[in-house]
Amino acid sequence: MKDRRVLLVEDEAITADITAEVLRCCSFDDIVQAENGVEALSLMQESGPEIELIVTDLRMPKMDGVEFLRHLSEIDRTIPVILLSGTDRALLESAELLAQTRCLNVLGALEKPIRKHDLLAMLEKDQGTKDHNGACEGPRELTVEDLRYAIAGNDICLYYQPKILVSDQRLQSVEGLARWHHAELGIISPVDFISLAERSGMIDELTEHLCRHALDDLTGWRSAGLNFTVALNFSVESLHDLLLPERLGEMVRLAGLQPSDFILEVTESGIVENLADCLEVLMRLRMQGFALSIDDFGTGHSSMQQLQRFPFTELKVDRAFVGGAAKMESARAIFESNVALARKLGLKVVAEGVETQDDWGVVQELNCDLAQGYLFSKPVKADKISALAIQSL
Ligand code: C2E
Ligand code: CA
Ligand code: CA
Repeated sequence: MKDRRVLLVEDEAITADITAEVLRCCSFDDIVQAENGVEALSLMQESGPEIELIVTDLRMPKMDGVEFLRHLSEIDRTIPVILLSGTDRALLESAELLAQTRCLNVLGALEKPIRKHDLLAMLEKDQGTKDHNGACEGPRELTVEDLRYAIAGNDICLYYQPKILVSDQRLQSVEGLARWHHAELGIISPVDFISLAERSGMIDELTEHLCRHALDDLTGWRSAGLNFTVALNFSVESLHDLLLPERLGEMVRLAGLQPSDFILEVTESGIVENLADCLEVLMRLRMQGFALSIDDFGTGHSSMQQLQRFPFTELKVDRAFVGGAAKMESARAIFESNVALARKLGLKVVAEGVETQDDWGVVQELNCDLAQGYLFSKPVKADKISALAIQSL
């Protein structure tokens, strides 16, 4: 088997030796070492695509880790990166945020000297994320024609992920997450096609298509005697259509279901062009009985402003603050203040991205209403949900 190549960027000889030793224990036998960012960049030009992991310190002479991350984001955002620091935990957390903001594939941050089980956990988590999501990145540019063809051919469907009650761990709802089964590319993640649908004006068609899937699936679950609700994702930018509340209400009633069987999870991914129309649409949906959830709360896009203006019933704390709350003080502080805010406004709180027992401990401690994440279940096909729901009864 070919040795796995790692680029280690660290200038302190003693800790660099320890890091190298731990990397070898984790099957990275081919270690390319650099003492600073400048050296690392030139080594990358030589070894290029063969590097499978970059482990970089923050404090280094000539070019520090922060500057190195900026250059790296201009060259290659796909290589997994682990950050190291010997001094300051807060600095490490900011660096992790910075790397994520630069869209780097950052796996996490470790204090030096690193320990084998911490590194292994980080590498396994990365592997788990790739396996779990049931979706892969599209290696080629998708076009509007691909999308139109996929909707017409019913190639895009919903997978569902349980939202469980924190008090007794019963399945109370499931969130529908779009998956595109592509003949050549396999399963494509919504991250790779929702924005295409938005940009190309196909989002309304796609949303309606997915709503029909959800209605069919929920009708099946109801006839099997299962009572949970279904959450659907809407980007707020697609809520400009003033006829949507009527159309959606009609579809639901024709299927013999109630608007209160649904939660509409709303995310904002950019500037809302027609705020008044969005607000009207959301209000009329709420007045019909649909529950409204503010998704990804706490990220740059879902802001406080929305909470005051929109008639939400539920707040989903973004997984950036839930996963890691047990270890990172800053994440926990934001998580806590989001829960307090939701409580003051009378909203239900959902913690998303619960991956570990430690995260789950924090979710229980903070008394969230619902939890969702790989710890309970990854998103699965509709036919797997009945079994999960029955198990949880
Ligand atoms: P989201 O609404 O925040 O959905 C949660 C995402 O987190 C899902 O990714 C889910 O697979 C993933 N996830 C769930 N539990 C965990 C966990 O424990 N750890 C980690 N690391 N991830 C977890 P997915 O399915 O790739 O969806 C990504 C985003 O795409 C969604 O984020 C949502 O904003 C958007 N999306 C998905 N389906 C639709 C849709 O039908 N319509 C619209 N407009 N947007 C959608
Ligand atoms: Ca969501
Ligand atoms: Ca979310």
